[in-house]
Amino acid sequence: LKSAERISAVLPLTSFLARSGEGEFLCILQFRERNAATLFKLLEDISAQFDLPIKLSQHEVDAHLVGGIATAPNDGDDPETLHKHAMSALYKAKKNTGRDRFYFYEPTLKDGSFRRLFIASRIRSGDCLKEIFVHYQPILSREGRHVVGCEALARWENSELGQISPTEFIAEAERLGEIDTLGEIILMKACFDAKEWQKDLPDFYVSVNVSPIQLEDDAFVCKVKNALALSGLPPNSLKLEVTEQLYLPGSESILQRLKALTDLGVRIAIDDFGSGYASLNYMCCYPFQTLKIDQAFIKRLTQDKSSQVLVQSVIQISKSLGLDTVAEGVEDLPTQKILEQMGCDYLQGYLYSVPIEPGVFKRLLPTKKQQSEPNP
Ligand code: C2E
Ligand code: CA
Ligand code: CA
Repeated sequence: LKSAERISAVLPLTSFLARSGEGEFLCILQFRERNAATLFKLLEDISAQFDLPIKLSQHEVDAHLVGGIATAPNDGDDPETLHKHAMSALYKAKKNTGRDRFYFYEPTLKDGSFRRLFIASRIRSGDCLKEIFVHYQPILSREGRHVVGCEALARWENSELGQISPTEFIAEAERLGEIDTLGEIILMKACFDAKEWQKDLPDFYVSVNVSPIQLEDDAFVCKVKNALALSGLPPNSLKLEVTEQLYLPGSESILQRLKALTDLGVRIAIDDFGSGYASLNYMCCYPFQTLKIDQAFIKRLTQDKSSQVLVQSVIQISKSLGLDTVAEGVEDLPTQKILEQMGCDYLQGYLYSVPIEPGVFKRLLPTKKQQSEPNP
């Protein structure tokens, strides 16, 4: 008997068998109830079909069978995912020459869905808080290129996943409604660290990213007041970065909160300017003091004339509105030079430093002696 006939001989009527590749079959099985024993029995029956050699032309060939198994809905609930996972189990089965001839799909942490579940569960349980800390990236003045402040950037280091990017875990925390707690902890830490660094540099400020969801919280202004009061950081040494993606034309309550914060003396920056849909009207109506030009424009500055025109115009408009400008993503000297010529007030990027841990950051700060000397 041929292989296909041997397999189909033992399959239940409801199953589907197809040839899916060279010496490879795909079999879809349906079970009325989840019963591992039924599945194992069937796999044994299929294997047993290959106990007898296969006759090819005049020759008898010993064939043996290996298989990869994925089950729905545990291993995926759409055909593509199930197939992909069955194939990854099959790959393992082919690689291993041990006794087991069938391998079940085992999710690894690197797999998308499992990774996400893992991250979500650690956020929900609060376990992530032990592993999340804050790094700081210096912000330099154009004039004299001194460090004048820094941006606080959240970092998550997990023993199993390694570093998890903030773009990944912040989005997850937002989705789960846990960003308020996480944001509050980051804000508190940033205020305390900045207060410490003001001993060396009294005008030092820290810029903290704020998720739009945090701004929807009635208690947000109180939380900011609290962080300032506990740390002793003056309000005007705290800047809150609100991404431009947050388009708030109808959101009166967010506007009120931003105004309440500026009344306290806290400064607000519009982050990633140019990446979304902010209008000029938006720049005038909201109480921003700083505009951070989106990195995408800065990256193209040396190659692309139209980016130059755009950045130059943004700097001019923001100057006329009384805002200062920060360029982030500055990676090389030619970019720095262009931005300086354009009159961009502050610079931030890998050219000066990647985000670093607080202990290392402290060493970047100019000493009192350096502060009184002119910069090279
Ligand atoms: P962002 O606010 O636009 O932060 C700037 C990002 O650009 C950071 O990435 C920073 O490491 C990176 N960067 C800075 N200079 C350069 C450069 O010269 N070249 C390149 N290629 N990249 C540069 P990171 O730390 O991965 O953060 C990504 C995003 O995650 C942030 O974008 C921000 O939106 C969000 N995020 C980070 N920390 C927090 C937080 O504490 N709260 C909230 N709500 N969001 C945060
Ligand atoms: Ca930012
Ligand atoms: Ca940004």
